[in-house]
Amino acid sequence: MKCWTRRQFSCLAGATGVTALCPKKARGGTKARVVVIGGGVGGATSAKYLAMSSSALDVTLVEPKARYTTCFFSNLYLAGLRSLESLTHDYDILAQRYGINVIRDAVTTLDPVARTIGLEGGGTLPYDRAVVAPGISFRYDAIEGYDEAAAQIMPHAWIAGVQTKLLRQQLEGMKDGGVFLMVAPPDPFRCPPGPYERASLIAYYFKQYKPRAKILILDAKDSFFEQDVFQDGWYRHYPGMIEWLPGQFTGGVKAIDVKNRSVKTSGEIFKADVANIIPAQMAGELAQRAGLVDQSGWCPIDPKTFESKLQPGVHVVGDAARAGNMAKSAFASNSQGKVCAFAIAAALTGSEQFAPHLFNTCFTLLAPDDAVTSAISYRTEPETIKISDIFVSKVGENAETRRKAVREANGWYAAFTHDLFG
Ligand SMILES: Cc1cc2nc3c(=O)[nH]c(=O)nc-3n(C[C@H](O)[C@H](O)[C@H](O)COP(=O)(O)OP(=O)(O)OC[C@H]3O[C@@H](n4cnc5c(N)ncnc54)[C@H](O)[C@@H]3O)c2cc1C
Repeated sequence: MKCWTRRQFSCLAGATGVTALCPKKARGGTKARVVVIGGGVGGATSAKYLAMSSSALDVTLVEPKARYTTCFFSNLYLAGLRSLESLTHDYDILAQRYGINVIRDAVTTLDPVARTIGLEGGGTLPYDRAVVAPGISFRYDAIEGYDEAAAQIMPHAWIAGVQTKLLRQQLEGMKDGGVFLMVAPPDPFRCPPGPYERASLIAYYFKQYKPRAKILILDAKDSFFEQDVFQDGWYRHYPGMIEWLPGQFTGGVKAIDVKNRSVKTSGEIFKADVANIIPAQMAGELAQRAGLVDQSGWCPIDPKTFESKLQPGVHVVGDAARAGNMAKSAFASNSQGKVCAFAIAAALTGSEQFAPHLFNTCFTLLAPDDAVTSAISYRTEPETIKISDIFVSKVGENAETRRKAVREANGWYAAFTHDLFG
């Protein structure tokens, strides 16, 4: 198996469609075709576990980027603790070892009646089942003045890659004594502890290189996940450096002035030296275009199979899915990808249908030697997914427990990315 570039793929697929590319046989006929859209956490997991679960499946993964940079651990890059390269992974092993047809292209259309997928490069892919895992998109209409162009000056850095690099450059260029202003989004959003881990690790960077700098968080919310643990960490490691203002205090962020690098709330204007605007979020654009999204902005799914409730034969995993109480995290997306892969394999090949096991574990760094953890298991109900057990770190844990959590976090990153791409 090999990876096809968009150009090679278009030539090969031509008008005849892609089936001609892989005419493999199984159970007396052609293999059942599963097309996975999006090579991030949810998509890579689904593709790999589909390919591993049955030789009777022909698995294709469509992803526009040659290499994927993880959002998880990108806050360490912002703090100068990891290189971006160390967070970047390719699809070679998925193609070579697992026999997945990796197509470098973007999906533009999904027709759930004809069961075909249209590619930006011009080809068409027929499917028996599709998995849609496009991640998030931003509600650019939520804050006046903030759009894609504004994000080039006041980055969100909430999809890792160029945006993350831009924010790091701005932090490096900021004068000592400057203000780093973050706008934190309303629920639900990708990675609930993420904005506060980012503030912690940028404070760590400032403490080394710009000790007079300040961090101001203008939050859309009135409270946030693991708030007591974060605020305790800020007090111990960075006293006086981080100020968090809840939505009920500011009345919420109303507008952005890119030219003056300022943020307007109900009653005040806040000036920034570096501004990180993380807007409200919804399912990735393709999910919207394919009719997979309901009025919440996310994709309703069957909790046992992750099949869309709106388009039969299409499954949605990862942040785009509306998965009950599950957090929008990499760990959760990976867990969903596995459940989805086994459910599709069972439906298409008659293999055993496993009961779903859904989990989320998160390691969050307050400082390079101080990490906290959360571990959650979920149970599925006919219409939703609920938390069945939860562990979260507590204020007052001893220093060795926190150092151990940092070692576990590093081990987790290596093992987890191996599970996705290795
Ligand atoms: C700062 C930060 C820190 C985080 N830290 C953690 C952490 O410590 N632990 C944790 O568990 N989670 C963490 N997360 C969350 C985690 O990164 C996401 O929840 C996870 O990436 C979601 O996976 P996904 O597959 O839904 O989306 P993504 O990983 O974003 O993948 C989506 C993919 O779909 C592709 N795509 C989009 N549209 C199309 C299209 N039309 N055609 C083809 N492909 C398409 C994109 O190119 C992309 O590769 C963090 C997030 C942030 C922002």
